[in-house]
Amino acid sequence: MHLARFPRVHLAHLPTPLERLDRLSAALGGPEIWIKRDDCTGLSTGGNKTRKLEFLMAEALAEGADMVMTQGATQSNHARQTAAFAAKLGLKCHCLLEDRTGYNNPNYNGNGNVLLDHLHGATTEKFPGGHDMPGEMERAAEAMRAKGHKVYVIPGGGSNPTGALGYVNCAYELLGQLNDRSLKVDRIVTPTGSSGTQAGLVVGLAATHANIPLLGIGTRAPQPKQEQMVYDLACKTAEKIGAPGIVSRDMVMANTDYVGDGYGLPTESGLEAIALFAELEGLLLDPVYSAKGAAGLIDLVRKGAFDGDERIVFIHTGGSTGLFGYDFAFDHSARQIKIG
Ligand SMILES: *Cc1c(COP(=O)(O)O)cnc(C)c1O
Repeated sequence: MHLARFPRVHLAHLPTPLERLDRLSAALGGPEIWIKRDDCTGLSTGGNKTRKLEFLMAEALAEGADMVMTQGATQSNHARQTAAFAAKLGLKCHCLLEDRTGYNNPNYNGNGNVLLDHLHGATTEKFPGGHDMPGEMERAAEAMRAKGHKVYVIPGGGSNPTGALGYVNCAYELLGQLNDRSLKVDRIVTPTGSSGTQAGLVVGLAATHANIPLLGIGTRAPQPKQEQMVYDLACKTAEKIGAPGIVSRDMVMANTDYVGDGYGLPTESGLEAIALFAELEGLLLDPVYSAKGAAGLIDLVRKGAFDGDERIVFIHTGGSTGLFGYDFAFDHSARQIKIG
């Protein structure tokens, strides 16, 4: 598969590192866990949206857009990375933010990703939870077009076949790293949300006949819906790269047992995952996505769902900027001590 056929703005820091998590693996006493550092993709602290935006923003430029518009939750990492990309390329950026949590907390509403959206010069607009965000975005785009702007609309999470190309490429990149280092991997685990990450990986793994099972850990939708979203997008993405039919339904697996009370609401197991990664590996997860993904991985290891001699790669999709919008979820008072 020749991805160079698609326009792309090369701004990501690639390849991202692939690292072994010795202390976490030892603490869990199960498989050997590795991490693919897609939290290090660059552009305003990085994360998984950077890979997608390389292809989406190239399409925006090719269409002559002077403005991009996208939508997400208040603490959207996707909005922040889009804002940074737009700044770098000299495009205007407007983000529609949906209040999916109902938090009144000032840091949730103004720090973390929201602060960075504004620092990058993007404008934001707030909407209540459950609002028709795609419809609202179309209306907003029409209003800006009426004012003479050429608007490129990016769906939530950058999850369409163009954005998913970024994760087709990630699968190729990861497979290259594994082959170069003679690392036989038995499973890949990734957080999954708007589905572009998992769908792109499914297509990249299928296209290379890698035969490595991929498990998505859900962060929002129930399992049937999540798997259907991933499958539909994977099929469309396979068509886009000229390989229709390479994705079969059994390549799409999502476990949605770790969502908790809902999207963006921290869970006990997610907070434990943040503590384990931070204290054992010096790594930062975020409460919305990567912590729930890691919580699923940790719980499945503890339950013995994987063989002890397996080697697993966890995709770190980023998001640590969100920690500063969720400081109220953490009790770190016991660390503030006086010695002597
Ligand atoms: C958006 C996001 C995800 C989910 O990726 P999708 O492609 O939307 O499924 C996971 N982790 C982080 C940190 C994200 O920002």
